[in-house]
Amino acid sequence: MSETQQRLLQQLGGPAQTSLADYRKQGGYAALQKAIAQMSPQQVLNEIREAGLRGRGGAGVKTAEKMAIVGRSDEDIKYVICNAYDADPRSRISQTLLARNPHLVIEGMALAAYTVGASEGFLYIRGTDRGLADSLRQALQEAMGQGVLGPSVFGSSFTFSITLVGVEMGFMGGEESTLIQIIKGRPAKAQQRPPYPTQYGVAEKPTLVQNVETLANLPLIVARGGAAYRKTGTANSSGTKLFTVIGPDAAEGVVVEVPFGATIAEALRAAGISASDDTARAVVVGGLEGGALPLAALNTPLDFEPIEDTGAIIGSSIIEVLPKATCMVNWATLQSVALSKETCGKCVPCRVGVKRIAGTLEGIISGIGNKGDLDLLEEFSRYVPDGSLCGFGVNAVHPVVTAMKNFAGDFQAHLDGQCPTNTCEPVRAHRYVTKHVL
Ligand code: SF4
Repeated sequence: MSETQQRLLQQLGGPAQTSLADYRKQGGYAALQKAIAQMSPQQVLNEIREAGLRGRGGAGVKTAEKMAIVGRSDEDIKYVICNAYDADPRSRISQTLLARNPHLVIEGMALAAYTVGASEGFLYIRGTDRGLADSLRQALQEAMGQGVLGPSVFGSSFTFSITLVGVEMGFMGGEESTLIQIIKGRPAKAQQRPPYPTQYGVAEKPTLVQNVETLANLPLIVARGGAAYRKTGTANSSGTKLFTVIGPDAAEGVVVEVPFGATIAEALRAAGISASDDTARAVVVGGLEGGALPLAALNTPLDFEPIEDTGAIIGSSIIEVLPKATCMVNWATLQSVALSKETCGKCVPCRVGVKRIAGTLEGIISGIGNKGDLDLLEEFSRYVPDGSLCGFGVNAVHPVVTAMKNFAGDFQAHLDGQCPTNTCEPVRAHRYVTKHVL
């Protein structure tokens, strides 16, 4: 990827720019100053629309359309939330952006607030990283002290302040409606939509919730213009995308930036990871709720629709190469067991269905499965997404669905009494363990 195509990591290049002075030396906050002094909120929105920016949080919603709804509201109080809570803790994207360049994110939040007419924002992070929370608090204080945030941003009539919110709520802590409930001080359960947060969010006021990576792109769009931004990426998804890439033997991922439309193989190469038939069994795209693809799919373009066509998702933006010795039934079991512990429990199909999937898979790897289990798994794979209120339940079946579709031989081998890689250990002795399952 050329230097001009590398955008966010280029911003992150060299030593960390944690101080406001360092950030300004690199041209930081020029976009915010330009917007406030020379552009109306509508003009900023037009540039974001022209850029074709899509939300990086997983669903790929057009950012300008979401902002336009909040901006159109007559309410005098509106909010911006930066969702920097990596639902899958193996993702390092939020932590990398915030640790290396907190002011890029603060500037992005301020630009979003200026565009939609918000005066208050929340920077929502995983609260377990105390060091990160401390450095963000310092960056926010510095921004307030130097007039970049506060009652008169850069001496203008634009007012914007940011509250840091640190939360540890497992996977569901990153879900949009759940995080609003948490900020409201209510039980952490996903909410029925509509109404959407764009109309009825924090304090029942219009609230723009955007992923941290999405907001970090706003200064680049305003500084260079939407048309220039759009030159990178695909017709459907402009710009670049950050991924956490995890190799077959690695405990920790590497963050890479590739243009939308780059292939999975190119993202692996950017991370210095190879995946061949000799070393790898599958590649998983999307994190805990992602799908397992055969190595033949390595040339799939990294874009929302082509990845969804394979049965995987952009999701948590994690690309993981599974080692050669992986039994894919065991992999689907581990994913499903982990997911069964993360459901918030509000809807029965998700609360019970994900546990039934995990329990049925446990039976298969324990050598007590039968052909009927595959039918049951297929039934639950339809029933759980159909009856789920939020994206968690919709996406939770991807591991089992993709494993059954792409690695059917592994399931058959287990039903014939043999683990295909001789790696599975029995984990239960009874086929139906209702108490455990439910
Ligand atoms: S789909 Fe699952 S996680 Fe989402 S609200 Fe329903 S029970 Fe909770």
